[in-house]
Amino acid sequence: AGPEDQEPVKRRLGVMGGTFDPIHHGHLVAASEVASLFHLDEVVFVPTGQPWQKDSHGVSPAEDRYLMTVIATASNPQFSVSRIDIDRGGPTYTVDTLRELRNEHPDADLFFITGADALEQIFSWRNAQELFHQAHFIGVTRPGHTLSDPGLPEGGVSLVEVPALSISSTDCRERVARGEPVWYLVPDGVVRYIDKRKLYKGAA
Ligand code: ATP
Ligand code: MG
Repeated sequence: AGPEDQEPVKRRLGVMGGTFDPIHHGHLVAASEVASLFHLDEVVFVPTGQPWQKDSHGVSPAEDRYLMTVIATASNPQFSVSRIDIDRGGPTYTVDTLRELRNEHPDADLFFITGADALEQIFSWRNAQELFHQAHFIGVTRPGHTLSDPGLPEGGVSLVEVPALSISSTDCRERVARGEPVWYLVPDGVVRYIDKRKLYKGAA
């Protein structure tokens, strides 16, 4: 039998959703580590639309968060950025993100990468069962967050430890607001973009 008779090898597509306000090296290390461990062909970063968890705090404009994500990922041929959640408008639900990505990539297996903290919230949502069929979920550990009582569906979810980076976007925003450096916490181009656009200057 020739190669045309064999099952086509499915593309393995990682999906990393986030507010990315700003994107930082914790996000990038997590994506890189999961791509390696799970033999992913590509990781798509998907900045959220107006995030419902955070709308009281005020989130930076979507275009700024999108551009910082592009700047941070541009040099990695395995990384790309999708505008689907930003262009859909309104709050982002993971179930919509994954539906749309499955339509765009019908031939790919999806691996949704998320911090273990966020994983608990995702599966408390109403479409938990559908989510579970849409993608394999990979929860990455981050400092200060342990999965106490995950209540996650059996199978379909993997928990992995990534080299612990004690970086959060909240801390980066607060540092900028206090006039402290974020060099080496976020990529150089993102430091310069934050400065150029005067992001996070007011309230942290
Ligand atoms: P904020 O402090 O504003 O909540 P954040 O640092 O958690 O921001 P998000 O954009 O909310 O960043 O995170 C996107 C995804 O990346 C989430 O699933 C989150 O759990 C995960 N994540 C964030 N920081 C890290 C880190 N240092 N290591 C591993 N995963 C991380
Ligand atoms: Mg967060």
